[in-house]
Amino acid sequence: MYPKSLQELIDSFRNLPGVGEKSAERYALNVLDWKDTEVQAFAQALLNVKEKLHYCNECGNLTENDTCDICNDPDRNHEVIFVVQSSKDVLAMEKTNEYHGVYHVLNGLISTSKGIMPEDLNIDSLIQRAKNAKEIILATNTTMDGETTAMYLNKLLHAECPEVLVTRIAHGLPTGGMLDYADEMTLTHALSDRRKM
Ligand SMILES: [Zn+2]
Repeated sequence: MYPKSLQELIDSFRNLPGVGEKSAERYALNVLDWKDTEVQAFAQALLNVKEKLHYCNECGNLTENDTCDICNDPDRNHEVIFVVQSSKDVLAMEKTNEYHGVYHVLNGLISTSKGIMPEDLNIDSLIQRAKNAKEIILATNTTMDGETTAMYLNKLLHAECPEVLVTRIAHGLPTGGMLDYADEMTLTHALSDRRKM
């Protein structure tokens, strides 16, 4: 049995995805070797992300400001909106340098098995934004929940904003594919081969 403070640190690391007991022990014991300043910086970084980061008022992406850098960028095409599950997907897409529109981050997917309903997601503001847009690209993952969400949004957008073009990224992504795991080439093709819904 470890001393209480060490066990608490191990338990904290275990909360991270993919970290088992052995890795958590290794991380926690490693922290003991750090300089005091390094430990303080680490603790402060953890507090900072909780305190400073929040969702962009416009698109739902993570930002330290009211609106994110992408929404504030006048050089981007604000009439094309790429709809994704999470901020991780925005980062993945930005790495391709091939997309110059803006984003909308749902912060989740509709999931009957997990009890996540449309009202739990950042959908109302998407409908408002779609009224001034030319194209909405539905880029949720090709998992069951991703497809369910895309179908739901397609129906809602057709009803609420009949003028807007709704497209779905191509299935260059394998079925069950996660946007943030796809390589840049796959993502670029998924975007360029998108089809009308
Ligand atoms: Zn934004």
